[in-house]
Amino acid sequence: MQFEPVIGLEVHAQLKTKTKIFCSCSTEFGKPPNANTCPVCTGMPGVLPVLNRLAVSFAIKACLATHCRINRESRFDRKNYFYPDLPKGYQISQYAAPIAEHGFLEIETNMSGLKKIGITRIHMEEDAGKLIHDPARSKSMVDLNRTGVPLIEIVSDPDIRSAEEAGAYLRKLHNILKYIDVCDGNMEEGSFRCDANISLRPLGKKEFGTRTELKNLNSFKHIEKAITYEIERQAYVLSEGNSVIQETRLWDPSKNKTVSMRGKEEAHDYRYFPDPDLVPLILDETWIKAVEKEMPELPDAKLSRFVKQYALSDTDAGVLTSTLALADFFEKAAGPLKDKKQAANWVMTILLGMLNTKGIPITESPVTAEAVSKLLLLIENGKINANAAKTVFDLMVETLKDPERIVQEKGLEQVSDVSELESAVMTVINENPEETAAYRTGKTKLFSFFMGQVMKKTKGKADPKIVTPLLKTKLM
Ligand code: ADP
Ligand code: MG
Ligand code: ZN
Repeated sequence: MQFEPVIGLEVHAQLKTKTKIFCSCSTEFGKPPNANTCPVCTGMPGVLPVLNRLAVSFAIKACLATHCRINRESRFDRKNYFYPDLPKGYQISQYAAPIAEHGFLEIETNMSGLKKIGITRIHMEEDAGKLIHDPARSKSMVDLNRTGVPLIEIVSDPDIRSAEEAGAYLRKLHNILKYIDVCDGNMEEGSFRCDANISLRPLGKKEFGTRTELKNLNSFKHIEKAITYEIERQAYVLSEGNSVIQETRLWDPSKNKTVSMRGKEEAHDYRYFPDPDLVPLILDETWIKAVEKEMPELPDAKLSRFVKQYALSDTDAGVLTSTLALADFFEKAAGPLKDKKQAANWVMTILLGMLNTKGIPITESPVTAEAVSKLLLLIENGKINANAAKTVFDLMVETLKDPERIVQEKGLEQVSDVSELESAVMTVINENPEETAAYRTGKTKLFSFFMGQVMKKTKGKADPKIVTPLLKTKLM
């Protein structure tokens, strides 16, 4: 039997505020355990939470960027459960009345082209702490630095049909949250985490099958692998005539498989009820409008603009807008140049190639956008040729020097002097009588051989725009 996967994703994104959602403790990552805590976030009796206004503004921004309908009134509930990383005994979360609903993201995949994935809801909540288990001392310790860090949870509709679509949706969402600057997107630090709900149904059937939930997947690669594995596992279970058990499973990256964590029987009854310490969250038009005004250009809009403004292909514009940092780098580099296409090619191949080999992010590129611009201007103004530019670039990476200075120091200026180039052309022709004869009998493919020889004679510095017509005439 053929099965169709049905997938819905829940993403927890940490909002980039300096302080926690209900107290003024710092949210800084990597501090000593429990350094960022106070009576509020450690759940001491008698304290009162105060909602962080900026966290709400960031949440509104995320809701607008994902085309959600924002509820003018939402509410914070208590989600009750006992666990040592949750000192209050409940997590403050929005449940019955979330901040926004009914949004969507548009994704593009090879298999299904353009497709809208519905967003059921976005709600605000506080994060829990972290247990650190020390098997050597058979002890567990708790770090409450993360307790009370503001999160939004973005719940998708069960519209996703493959691991590829899930990956595209998550990358898109991740990119948007970084573009609007409300989440740093750091997956290793847990700023962007995903749970995946997966079920199968016989192809053509409407009703959904029983789902399993994969918890806390923290890299795009793991998520795609885990979903692929889970689809195959469920297909096997069903094709054997057995039923899928509703349960929570974990991805084990070392074994490349999912393993059961807890079943439905162990599911919590959270006994949600409105938090009596917090008033309903009322959002007026002025607040929403103010956030809307700060909204930067989103990835899709930037891509379309790049295609139009810089005459780039969809693919190139897609690469260049894949992160905000790269898009900004390209625009800065291309700004003063006439040849935008050349700037795009340099950034995509030479610059990204160098960064990839060195394994450094563009934000830490040793060569700045201004420096790339200066280098490409040297080509545009005929000071150096493309050959020399590559040499200069490598030296820029190595020495962090200005391109002009490197050109001077290494004597890489392009040779554009016609008489000098003419004599080089003549020498090459005289030194290669056989090739010259062959060329003259119609072997015009040899042209690049002659060009290469002239380049060699001039140490790669000849201006090809002058050499080409010279060679053509002299070879006639
Ligand atoms: P819970 O609160 O228990 O996690 P929700 O109803 O809020 O459950 O759903 C969570 C996610 O699971 C949503 O993204 C939803 O789209 C998805 N989902 C619900 N039912 C199914 C199903 N049968 N198969 C796959 N995904 C599902
Ligand atoms: Mg869930
Ligand atoms: Zn605190």
